[in-house]
Amino acid sequence: MTTLAHAWFNEFLKEFASNEEYLGDLDRQAGDGDFAVNLGSGLKRAQKRIQLLSGSPTDAEVFSAISLGFLDTGGTSGPLLGMWFRGIARALDDGPLTTTGLSEGIATGTETIQRLGGAKVGDKTMVDAMVPASEALKEAAGRDGGLADALAKAAESASKGAQSTKEITASLGRASYVGDLSTGVVDPGAEAIALFFAAGAAAAS
Ligand code: ADP
Ligand code: MG
Repeated sequence: MTTLAHAWFNEFLKEFASNEEYLGDLDRQAGDGDFAVNLGSGLKRAQKRIQLLSGSPTDAEVFSAISLGFLDTGGTSGPLLGMWFRGIARALDDGPLTTTGLSEGIATGTETIQRLGGAKVGDKTMVDAMVPASEALKEAAGRDGGLADALAKAAESASKGAQSTKEITASLGRASYVGDLSTGVVDPGAEAIALFFAAGAAAAS
């Protein structure tokens, strides 16, 4: 049986395929242009790691495999996403994904990224989509919301967070090296996180 995590990952692969050009363009406009290549490489490595899992892997094992795939990948985004997925995997037990488990995992992963990379909301990074998604999941867990509804809310919040980066001038990462030129361009990392939660909402519905 396919776990929700695996179905979610497969949806994310599809989202990536439809948005690869766009993500690459965003990093070309306000960065060094390699974001889509880095994300594609992380996804390919993650897919291989998932294929190596035997029997019926748990959601936690699938997220752990995704983490290892990204930790093997270059760019700033590779290791950061690797640590984010590691936080998710570690917060889950052996059972199927729950709103509470996912909420704790996303919160842990996002705190880890902020500690390692030093980004706050408003610095124009992937954190600008992760934090609102994490808050939406916490709110859903607090009212005992089902996973499909929780992920739909997280996707909506992450998308708003990603869009909010458009008018910000980057203060961290390579996009900060182009000064005002990053203004008017959505941060590709934040956009990828929005696509990730949209994929989760599609997989859970
Ligand atoms: P690089 O800048 O090394 O080329 P990538 O192109 O792989 O890295 O990734 C760029 C993305 O990484 C940005 O869009 C941004 O979302 C994210 N990013 C950059 N620096 C940080 C940071 N310190 N914390 C969190 N995310 C960051
Ligand atoms: Mg780049």
